Amino acid sequence: MDDARDPSPAPETPGKDFIREILDEDCRTGKHGGKVATRFPPEPNGYLHIGHAKSICLNFGVALEYGGTCNLRFDDTNPLKEDVEYVDSIQEDVRWLGFDWDGRLFYASDYFGKLYEFGETLIRTGKAFVCDLSAEEVRKTRGTLTEPGRNSPYRDRPAEESLDLFRRMRSGEFPDGSRTLRAKIDMASPNINLRDPALFRIRKATHHRTGDAWCIYPMYDYAHAISDWIEGITHSLCTLEFEDHRPLYDWCLEALDLSNRPRQIEFARLNLTYTLLSKRKLLHLVTGRHVRGWDDPRMPTIAGLRRRGYTPEAIRDFCDRIGLAKRDSVVEVELLEHCLREDLNRRAPRFMGVLDPLRVVITNLPDGRVEELDAVNNPEDPAHGTRKVPFAREILIERDDFREVPPPKYHRLSPGQEVRLRWGYIIRCREVVKDPATGAITELHCTYDPATRGGDTPDGRKVKGTIHWVSAAHGLPAEVRLYDRLFSTPNPDEAPAGKDFLANLNPESLVVRTGCRVEPALAATKRGDFFQFERLGYFTVDPDTAPGGLVFNRSVSLRDSWAKIEKKSRAGA
Ligand code: ATP
Ligand code: MG
Repeated sequence: MDDARDPSPAPETPGKDFIREILDEDCRTGKHGGKVATRFPPEPNGYLHIGHAKSICLNFGVALEYGGTCNLRFDDTNPLKEDVEYVDSIQEDVRWLGFDWDGRLFYASDYFGKLYEFGETLIRTGKAFVCDLSAEEVRKTRGTLTEPGRNSPYRDRPAEESLDLFRRMRSGEFPDGSRTLRAKIDMASPNINLRDPALFRIRKATHHRTGDAWCIYPMYDYAHAISDWIEGITHSLCTLEFEDHRPLYDWCLEALDLSNRPRQIEFARLNLTYTLLSKRKLLHLVTGRHVRGWDDPRMPTIAGLRRRGYTPEAIRDFCDRIGLAKRDSVVEVELLEHCLREDLNRRAPRFMGVLDPLRVVITNLPDGRVEELDAVNNPEDPAHGTRKVPFAREILIERDDFREVPPPKYHRLSPGQEVRLRWGYIIRCREVVKDPATGAITELHCTYDPATRGGDTPDGRKVKGTIHWVSAAHGLPAEVRLYDRLFSTPNPDEAPAGKDFLANLNPESLVVRTGCRVEPALAATKRGDFFQFERLGYFTVDPDTAPGGLVFNRSVSLRDSWAKIEKKSRAGA
C-alpha cells in the first residue's frame, strides 16, 4: 500500500492513525488493564452501507490487531423504525465482510431493565427528574446557541414524586409524549446536549424483541454510554457528529459513579462522491421505487455492492487506504472502483461474451467443423490454467467492432481489412450482407487465414486489432446489466432550488442488454462467481439467474479513471 500516492484523506500521522496511537498508548500505560474491547453499534433501521464498512473494519480490525474483542450490538432503542429484516441483513453483511463477533452479539434492548434501574438511581441521587413539559414546550425553553435555556418548572420537584411518576410512566399510565425523564445538568451550558436532555420517553409501541414489555424507551446517548459500560467496552469509536455528545456520554457514566469507564473517540465519517450515505435517504430510494431494493447493484449498501460484484477483499482494501482522520472530507468514488479492479485483475478468470452480436460467416471453414482453441484463463496468474474455446463457421462479434466506413485509426474490422480473433485466427472481411428492406447490416462474410492459429502471423504482417467473439452454435444466451452511477452529480445533496436529491438521479444508471451471447464455459457459473469479459469489464452472476437464463451484472468497467485522478492530484501537489 502506498499512502503517499492517495489524494484521499491520509492518516494524520504517517504510519499509524490517531486511534491506533491512542490504543498503543493505553496498552503501554496499562489503562483498562491493557485490554482493547470495541463494539460496532448499528441501529437496525436500514441496511449497512459502505460508510458502515469503514466503522466495521476499524472496530473489528483493531480488536484483531490488539488481541482484543469486538461486539456486535444492535442499538434498538427506537421501536418505530426498527425491524428484524435489518437485524438479519446486518449480521449477514458483517460476516460477509470477513468479521466475526465470536458469539458476542448483543442488543441495547437486553439492557432495558438495567437502564430503567439506573434511571431510578439518578432520580434518587437528585440527578434526574420527571418533566411534564411537552416536546414543544421543551423545545421552547431549551434556548439557542447564543442564549441559555430556562429551567423546567418540574426540575425541583421532590425525588419521591419523580420516582412515583417514573414508575407510573413505566406502567403505562400516561400517554405518549406527555412526560419524560430528564437529566438534571445545566440549562445554561454552551453545549445544548447538556441542557437537561431527555433520558427516557414514553412510546407505546411494540418492540421487535421486547414486544409490549416496555412503553418507555431510553434515549440514544444514555443507552449508548450505559450499554458500552455494561459490555466492558474500553474504546467507543464513533463518528464526528457525536463529538458534541461526548460530555453527555461521560456525564451518564460519572453521574452513576461507574468505574472502568469506556472512552469515546470520534473519527471522520466516510463521504463518497456521487454517493449518498444516509440510511434515511437510502430508505427513501427503496420505498419510492427509485431502485429495485436495498440490494440493487447501484446502491452503496453492502448488499448492493455484493450483488454488483464487489468482493470483501476490495472493500477492506478500500477502508485501509482511506485511513482515519479527525476532519470530514470526501473520498472519490473512483478509489473504490480502483480497489475492486485491482482485486479482480489478480483473481478473476477471463472469458469472452458479446453484448450486441453481429453474425460473421467464415466462408472458407467447412460447415460442421469445430476447432477447440486454447485460451489463457488469467494472464496475471498462470495457476488459473487454460481452457478450450470452440471455433466454428458461424461466430458472433460485437456490432461495434465493425464499421463499414472506418474512422481514422480504427483497428477493428472493416470491409477488406483484417482483424485478430482473440485466441483464434486472423480474419478478413470480404462481404457485408444487408437487409434489403432496411439497409441494416445482418451479417459479414469473412475468410480466415489457417496459418494464424493463436493469433501469430508467420509472414510477419502487422494486424493491430484484436476483438472478442463467441461461436454462434455454442454461445449461451444471456442478459447483461450495465450500471452507471446512481447520481449524476458529485454531491447528490446539492439540488436545484425547491428540489431534493432525487432531482440528481442519473436516468442512465441501468442499461439492460438482452440477446447477449457468452462462451459455453460459463454454463456452470453460479452466484458469487466473478470474472472478466475481455475488453468489457468485470462481471458477476446476478441472483436473477435461472436455469437457461443467465443474468450478469457488470461490476466495474476496465478503464481505470482513478489513475487519472491520482496523476492530476500529484501534478497539483
Ligand atoms: P446514517 O447516517 O446512514 O443513518 P447512522 O450513523 O445513523 O447512519 P448507525 O446504525 O447508527 O447509522 O451506525 C452504526 C455505526 O456506524 C456508528 O458507530 C456510526 O458512527 C458508523 N457510521 C455510520 N455512517 C458512517 C460513515 N459514513 N462512515 C463511517 N462510519 C459510519
Ligand atoms: Mg446513528
